Amino acid sequence: MEKTKNDSTNESGFVMREHEIDTSNGKARIRYLVCEPMERAGFINAFSTREGGISPLPENALNLAHFKGDDKQNVNENRRRFLRAIGATTSTIITARQTHSTERFMVEDIELARGPQPDCDAMTTDIAQVLLAIQTADCLPVLISDPVTGAMAAVHAGWRGTAGRITERTIADLMMLHGMDARDAIAALGPAACVECYEVGEDVISRYRESFGYWKKLFANFKENGKAHLDVRRANIQQLLFCGFTEDRIHAADYCTMHQTDLFFSYRREAKGQPSKVGRLLSVIGKV
Ligand SMILES: [Zn+2]
Repeated sequence: MEKTKNDSTNESGFVMREHEIDTSNGKARIRYLVCEPMERAGFINAFSTREGGISPLPENALNLAHFKGDDKQNVNENRRRFLRAIGATTSTIITARQTHSTERFMVEDIELARGPQPDCDAMTTDIAQVLLAIQTADCLPVLISDPVTGAMAAVHAGWRGTAGRITERTIADLMMLHGMDARDAIAALGPAACVECYEVGEDVISRYRESFGYWKKLFANFKENGKAHLDVRRANIQQLLFCGFTEDRIHAADYCTMHQTDLFFSYRREAKGQPSKVGRLLSVIGKV
């Protein structure tokens, strides 16, 4: 029989869950993170790990994105396992063709979710039975939910999108299109490259210097060669606070994709010039 196991919740509000799935040749163990305050507010949410799949990336990997480095059948089976583990088999999943832009897409009805992938890096909706899904391997996934209006969003926030204020823009969409009040909303920031791991060059630093009065707070380890480390998580928390989110409703997972390559896919650690060798994680949000 399939069963779910809970590790204890840490103070971030995230819990690592484990679910055994029946497969054609036995059982597979799927592990994923859940933001419990968001779940209690009525939103299915999950952040995948790399465990329990069938993709050769390099083996038994739960790659959840269709891309040229993996077979369609592998991804479909991996997604079946993931959606089953998180209890979202009846929802329609929608992914985007992500390009590190600040484009957003509103899923107004279920037909749009079934249609072609939109070109965007954030999606919003307030309808049930849709699962907004963001693909990452080091970039930061940000999920937002509003228990009052039922609106939600999934954001792909790498250094470029963050510099373009994609989280602020998405929150503005939720306010204008769905009537959200940021003080009611909950945010969940998933696993991503941490500040210790995420070295960037002068081009990135100057982009932030031009865009944010508080840019210095977002960097650490300034080096003589002009490089420094960027704190993408902190940058997005700053954008959430700026928009009126309260600190106690912002939950950040205490996991780094580059530190923990046993649990997550890391583009920076694993790609080595070959993007097709790295699987992708999925971060999803929806309502039943
Ligand atoms: Zn790290």
